[in-house]
Amino acid sequence: MQVRRALFSAEGQEFGDIHLGNLLLSLGGADLFEESVQLDMHKIDDKLAKVTERIHQAAILAGRDPQTVQLIAVSKTQPPAAIAEAYAWGQRRFGENYLQEALDKQQALHALDDLQWHFIGPIQSNKTRLIAAHFAWVHSVDRLRIAQRLNDQRPEGLPPLEICIQVNIDDEDTKSGVNLAELPALALAIQPLKRLRLRGLMAIPVATSDTQQQRASFSRLRLAVAALNRQGLALDTLSMGMSGDLEAAIAEGATFVRVGTDIFGARQ
Ligand SMILES: *Cc1c(COP(=O)(O)O)cnc(C)c1O
Repeated sequence: MQVRRALFSAEGQEFGDIHLGNLLLSLGGADLFEESVQLDMHKIDDKLAKVTERIHQAAILAGRDPQTVQLIAVSKTQPPAAIAEAYAWGQRRFGENYLQEALDKQQALHALDDLQWHFIGPIQSNKTRLIAAHFAWVHSVDRLRIAQRLNDQRPEGLPPLEICIQVNIDDEDTKSGVNLAELPALALAIQPLKRLRLRGLMAIPVATSDTQQQRASFSRLRLAVAALNRQGLALDTLSMGMSGDLEAAIAEGATFVRVGTDIFGARQ
């Protein structure tokens, strides 16, 4: 099978055509290649282009520079070959929810050394050491004990871990995240931790197709960041918006959108 693909740098600069098949073969051998042959039918390139265009349009509509919204491709349950294919089309940031699954994929893809890994799932305290060592960003910090462990366990040779506090923005019993009322105390306690860099807030709002309701939730997160910044913090990150609501999130100021289904298709 001949699959001709353009390979882009992180800045979207094209630096030459490569054979995706050869890339996958050199990375992971026949298994990755076989997976990619099947995946080719899923057309990750088309879906990635559509999502990128949606982000662009939503930013323009909101009067924002599209460059201020960055895409995290959420690859949970997807095989390494799917990540490699998105990589071949220029995608560099990937989000994972389950530690062991993520470590396996990082191992399979270690030759792609400019991938940026974001941990976005719930964190148990016995997992913090590996999360602190293997991710650039953690979006799902929701209690001080976890933040302290990540701080203590971030390896010396790496830059500080970039983190977001996860907020339970619609006060749902089933969701993780700190309540808005408890957010300021948590943020002020995390701020001094030297091996972390508190960048902003993350939320997963209640699932709804009502765009007014989507925007109401996202606007609460935007206002929470503004309130913390008035208390002396310097937060610049709003991690919000997924496949079904990224337009509303961008209208309310999202700087990261986390998109899985609309890039990789339905999860197994
Ligand atoms: C799965 C997941 C996503 C992606 O959701 P899609 O609806 O598939 O785009 C985003 N953020 C978090 C925290 C997730 O767990």
